[in-house]
Amino acid sequence: PAVGSSPAMKQVKLEKESELRIEVNVNSSLRLRLLNGSAEIFGTEMPPENWLIFPPRMKFAIFTWYGATIEMQDNTETDYVADETPMISYVNVHAVLEGRRNRAKASVSDTDSSQGPRVIVVGPTDSGKSTLSRMLLSWAAKQGWKPTFVDLDIGQGSITLPGCIAATPIEMPIDPVEGIPLEMPLVYFYGHNTPTVNADLYRVLVKELAQILERQFAGNAESRAAGMVINTMGFIDGLGYDLLLHAIDTFQATVVLVMGQDKLCSMLKDVLKQKPNVDVVKLQKSGGVVSRNSKFRAIARNQRIREYFYGLSNDLSPHSSIANFSDLAIYRIGGGPQAPASALPIGAQPVADPMRLVPVNINRDLLNLVLAVSFAKDQDQILSSNIAGFIWITDIDIPRKKITYLAPSGGELPSKFLLMGSLTWIET
Ligand code: ADP
Repeated sequence: PAVGSSPAMKQVKLEKESELRIEVNVNSSLRLRLLNGSAEIFGTEMPPENWLIFPPRMKFAIFTWYGATIEMQDNTETDYVADETPMISYVNVHAVLEGRRNRAKASVSDTDSSQGPRVIVVGPTDSGKSTLSRMLLSWAAKQGWKPTFVDLDIGQGSITLPGCIAATPIEMPIDPVEGIPLEMPLVYFYGHNTPTVNADLYRVLVKELAQILERQFAGNAESRAAGMVINTMGFIDGLGYDLLLHAIDTFQATVVLVMGQDKLCSMLKDVLKQKPNVDVVKLQKSGGVVSRNSKFRAIARNQRIREYFYGLSNDLSPHSSIANFSDLAIYRIGGGPQAPASALPIGAQPVADPMRLVPVNINRDLLNLVLAVSFAKDQDQILSSNIAGFIWITDIDIPRKKITYLAPSGGELPSKFLLMGSLTWIET
């Protein structure tokens, strides 16, 4: 089409229980709307007739239980209709969870039975884990529950930046375009997008997050009854498998949903059979789940960071600030030997202490790093503190000992304690 002309429109008719799978063009966004009937996007109902605008590269499906007509721009990367989906089995899981929430709500006086379902979704990368988590949360929210979403996926976080684990209550069906609102989630900074860098730290943070949620649940019958949905990493072999078991145990999951992986499912059934109150359920992977290669993932991670500072559609204006080196205290966690070899008895090997707080010297290497701002008020609280947000280092002036950084809003940082990992960002 000529420059400036808008793409042609088309209408797509969806029969009941079918879905329109869409990959938005890499360069242009997509406008579409529900013309008639009813349809949902990953569990959230589409508003009738309102135009929705989906950003480039987004991959999603519009599913209808009873039939619908969609009007859309004819400029996608791909779009096709599929009449075979696992949606009935997914909504059946939702119905079982609803039953358990209602039972939990009815027994407020009893601590054990007032706990709603704790669902953990496991499976390889690109098996639809995040998508199923989202549907279960949105369906529950539609029925008035406020389930807690826990995201343990440090590779592609849905709540906050990659490299973090986080939790947030879901009070409304999740917006199909905007995703989960970034308001005040509970976030712990791990700092890397793979657990192998420091698995001990990952375990400690998972435990920390679980303990805080446990405390919140103890004082809040409503969120306790609604339960939680926990999304996990796609790393399921070796260390990844150990970390899954650790998460199931730490969060005291009662329902384990395995996305289309017979081997993982049978392994989990086997180890969890001693726990009669844990159900392991295998679910079919949707044929619509799109595989994303490592380059796509890297781009998605970058986009996520850009979105944090600039908003989904460039609607936020981050503030640039300057601080003295002496105003900030930057740390990384773990790595490096505990003591120099010379200080150890002869023959002893220096061991890396995964939980050691290592002060970081400010130098040019910090350029482009994304640092987490701790809520810690004191140095020895850093390891157990959650984080307030992130800053991005844009300049380091060694002679003047000044550091320039971008933050989503101006004003003072909530704490001078900053955490460094391997998270970087380059503006593109
Ligand atoms: P995982 O969390 O297991 O890595 P996701 O749930 O993130 O997988 O799914 C991978 C990608 O596929 C995402 O971009 C998601 O939006 C997309 N996707 C999932 N289900 C469908 C579907 N039915 N139709 C089209 N795209 C889908």
